[in-house]
Amino acid sequence: MAPADRGNCLLRLADLVEKQAGTLISLELEDTGKPVSQLKNAEIPLTVSILRFYAGAADKIEGRVKSTAGGAFHFTFYEPYGVVAGILPWNYPLVNAAMKVAPALAAGNAMVVKPSVETPLSSVKFAKLCIEAGIPPGIVNVALGPGSSTGQYLVDHPDIHKISFTGSTAVGQKIQMDAAAQMKAVNLELGGKNAIIVFSDADLEKAADAVIISAFINAGQLCVSCSRLLLEKSIALEFETILKRKLQKVKIGDPNQEATLIGPMITRSQFETAMKYIENAPLEGCKIIAGGHRLNLPESLNNGFWIEPTILTATGPEIKAASEEIFGPVLTMLTFEDESEAVEISNHVIYGLSGSVWTKDGAKAMRMIKALNTGIIWINCMLNGYPQIPVPPHKMSGTGVELGMEGLLRYCKQKSAVNAYDDQGPVGWNL
Ligand code: NAD
Repeated sequence: MAPADRGNCLLRLADLVEKQAGTLISLELEDTGKPVSQLKNAEIPLTVSILRFYAGAADKIEGRVKSTAGGAFHFTFYEPYGVVAGILPWNYPLVNAAMKVAPALAAGNAMVVKPSVETPLSSVKFAKLCIEAGIPPGIVNVALGPGSSTGQYLVDHPDIHKISFTGSTAVGQKIQMDAAAQMKAVNLELGGKNAIIVFSDADLEKAADAVIISAFINAGQLCVSCSRLLLEKSIALEFETILKRKLQKVKIGDPNQEATLIGPMITRSQFETAMKYIENAPLEGCKIIAGGHRLNLPESLNNGFWIEPTILTATGPEIKAASEEIFGPVLTMLTFEDESEAVEISNHVIYGLSGSVWTKDGAKAMRMIKALNTGIIWINCMLNGYPQIPVPPHKMSGTGVELGMEGLLRYCKQKSAVNAYDDQGPVGWNL
């Protein structure tokens, strides 16, 4: 298909996602239990904007002509890989499907999407919408099944030349090692233990709102969320009070109600993992200053896995609750004396996905941007900027880049060509 036609297909797909938002929301709600307000106001619009962004980008993938010696024309350009595997986690199934399918198709690939066994419904519906949008059958495929068999099959399949994976660091490492056997290209978006850093000169009310959204939406099951709060010591008590006041107003419960911000956790095992961290926290010297328990809700909801939004104060950055990814509604709080200590604590973890810094001092913000070892940093905001802004994970948070034009190029192979037009020129290496 011509690049512009691929773009038109993605535009029609975006329109269909908008039109069928109700169905997609119901399917996602059934699979994940996440609040409709989040699906309606954040995830559907984000899915649509990702599709439209890459629709517009499809005919803007350009090569370059190089400045080389005369007698030959040297240029580089991009080609699709062919068939790409997109292996998805359960936390943002539809958004993640779009995040992989849109750039893969814009670049001219076909794709096999492998959703998590927990959340297959929206991927199946999305693939049906692809056909409705005029994308030829066989271009977007969904393979259902567990990671150990279906996912592994895709990783090992010789006709798949590129793997785009979002999920845990442990599985990402295995995929990278297995893919090396056939030298496949991999893009890995993995875990995070991101810090939100609040300086004393920040707008504390706004920063506290950001902390709550960031740490607790989707019950903390968001890779770029900030699950560590780093507070300048002089404002720690004041900020804690603001945070607790705001937390009391947060609505947890029935995901069907518009006002609900926090829903249940995805599975029993995810719930048990998060509860274990909470139970162990006092043994590591932490104080639980908010939440800390399983939440008991009315009977109709009580067979879900609910945890109160929990805030722990940590004794140091090295303890488990402050350094390991919990992936639950658990925020760990630490204090710092100055900028350099904030940087040291933030960079202490093995991950390097995202970060958020709150200060009114522009120069300080710039110094923090330079010093923090994460792929994306938000200043006085949190989670803004998709889909134009690329997310290039650092350290154990992955390799490659997702989103933005940079993310699109990860679905292309680069090729260089030198076309000699001077019959008298050397055939090679001046020989
Ligand atoms: P997971 O790693 O358990 O599974 C992710 C996907 O990989 C699933 O579809 C699973 O079936 C598949 N899989 C498992 N073993 C496989 C194998 N051997 N070969 C191929 N595929 C295999 O992750 P999860 O529990 O679904 O998601 C939670 C994790 O994902 C968290 O660590 C979170 O931080 C991370 N995550 C990261 C991002 C990001 O952009 N960085 C986004 C969302 C989630």
